[in-house]
Amino acid sequence: MELSRGLGRLLGVHPVRVDPEGGAAGTPRVPNGVDALVVGGGIAGISAAVVLAERGVRVTVLEARPTLGGRLAAWPDRLADGTAQGVDHGFHAFFRQYYNWRAILRRIDPALGFLRPVPGYPVLSADWPTEEFARLPSAPPLNLLALIARSPSLRLRDLRTMDGNAALPLLAYHPERSYAELDRTTAAHLLDSLRLPDRARAMLFEVFAHSFFNHEHDMSAAELVANFHFYLLGNAEGLAFDAPDRDYDSAIWRPLAAYLRVVGGKVHTGTPVTGINRRDGGGWQVTAGGALHRAEFLVLAVDPPALRDLLAAAPELAAEAPSLAARVAEFAPGPPYAVARYWLAGDVAPDRAVFSGVSRQPTLDSVTLYHRLEAGARDWADRTGGAVVELHAYACAEDLPAEELAMRMRAELIGLWPEVARLPVVELRARVERQAPSFRPGGHADRPTVLTDADGLFLAGDGIRTDLPSALMERAAVTGILAANRILRRCGTAPEPLWSVRRRGLLAKP
Ligand SMILES: Cc1cc2nc3c(=O)[nH]c(=O)nc-3n(C[C@H](O)[C@H](O)[C@H](O)COP(=O)(O)OP(=O)(O)OC[C@H]3O[C@@H](n4cnc5c(N)ncnc54)[C@H](O)[C@@H]3O)c2cc1C
Repeated sequence: MELSRGLGRLLGVHPVRVDPEGGAAGTPRVPNGVDALVVGGGIAGISAAVVLAERGVRVTVLEARPTLGGRLAAWPDRLADGTAQGVDHGFHAFFRQYYNWRAILRRIDPALGFLRPVPGYPVLSADWPTEEFARLPSAPPLNLLALIARSPSLRLRDLRTMDGNAALPLLAYHPERSYAELDRTTAAHLLDSLRLPDRARAMLFEVFAHSFFNHEHDMSAAELVANFHFYLLGNAEGLAFDAPDRDYDSAIWRPLAAYLRVVGGKVHTGTPVTGINRRDGGGWQVTAGGALHRAEFLVLAVDPPALRDLLAAAPELAAEAPSLAARVAEFAPGPPYAVARYWLAGDVAPDRAVFSGVSRQPTLDSVTLYHRLEAGARDWADRTGGAVVELHAYACAEDLPAEELAMRMRAELIGLWPEVARLPVVELRARVERQAPSFRPGGHADRPTVLTDADGLFLAGDGIRTDLPSALMERAAVTGILAANRILRRCGTAPEPLWSVRRRGLLAKP
């Protein structure tokens, strides 16, 4: 472990502070009277709002749904036996290199005590024995070497048949060059070109690629390289992750909303924004829940389909900001994803991991044992002797109802964990949604950015482009903070510091 840490330091994979454009100088707080509206109360919107409110901006968050959190939201539910359960959009892994999202969360819990390590990251397969992704040395390239050396999927003789040149881009992530060279190629093509043995491709690479809510035949190879860098090769933390021990609403969203109010922000939930206009004399005016809200600055921190809808309903804005309108018109959601949470009468085998990736099943991509993770589910399971098992499909077939997908995922799980067949289903909550951003080949150049051509209007969210290596929850937090920093800089105020994994791959040319 010490060797791993020492090597990590030597190779520069510890977190680096990133000074935003224009440097770190400026007043600590904005002058009186600066106001901002943030549309969307997910990770991106709340990260922006927290930073703005702390610096004295009068910020109001407008969130369409009754609860904050967006795709990380949780809401109360009740089982037929009367038990209250918090349910959510699905299990989330809080990786250790989510420096900026964790910095926002430290506002409510400086020690991040609500996050518990999730031990192990096994990959299950019907064709090959389970493989373990976690418990690798943390620092690259030791983690990669250990993965290859330890994995029965890759033998030394296999490395000889692999195309080393094709593998180089994975080790040479560069925020511009990787996109220039690989954005028009698909992730599937890049994986094909490595000439990996089928087992290694399935067990090591496909499971990873599937986690980004896109099909690998319709995902940019450059995005795969960027994610490989962010999650495996550019950080000293490796693939280790934590998860909240309580439901997301009580662990994260209620405390963050309370904190936001303490620092002067306002939060309106159940308030969908339906119109955006220029305010006479400058600034912005939005229509939400039948009321008008006005402010000098506007941050749109909504999911991809919602951003398209908002722009489509704002022709004046589209005319004022043709680049924003064109980029948003191309900003599509990825394929549907499905989540099924099963309450089962009886437990799975005791040695099953809390979280497992799944390789090469038609639908199922991961399994989470909520009753071994989260307080509410654990209480129910302790009382009934049951299990709460959540199944995910990160990118599934079109036009299938949630119940059908849930049934398919359970059947596929039974093929891997036969004891599940003997556990009667007590309750099921099944969802299929389509809100994750698409990372289609060739889409990078026209992807919406934080800065737009509409003066005083900024974008944030996990589909918004930034040079800072990041993805999913961390991308949402990073772009939220970047949007806040744009506003702070306009007011002559010092920006919020940001932290990054190594900015380029180990083998990237300067
Ligand atoms: C099943 C599942 C599993 C996941 N697992 C992981 C994981 O393990 N690790 C990880 O890092 N990430 C994971 N993610 C991804 C993660 O949830 C997202 O990257 C992140 O939550 C995106 O945050 P956001 O703020 O960009 O968008 P969102 O969370 O979508 O927030 C956008 C908000 O805007 C609101 N909104 C939309 N339209 C309007 C309107 N007109 N007016 C007002 N408000 C509006 C929405 O209601 C929503 O609250 C997972 C996602 C899902 C669905």
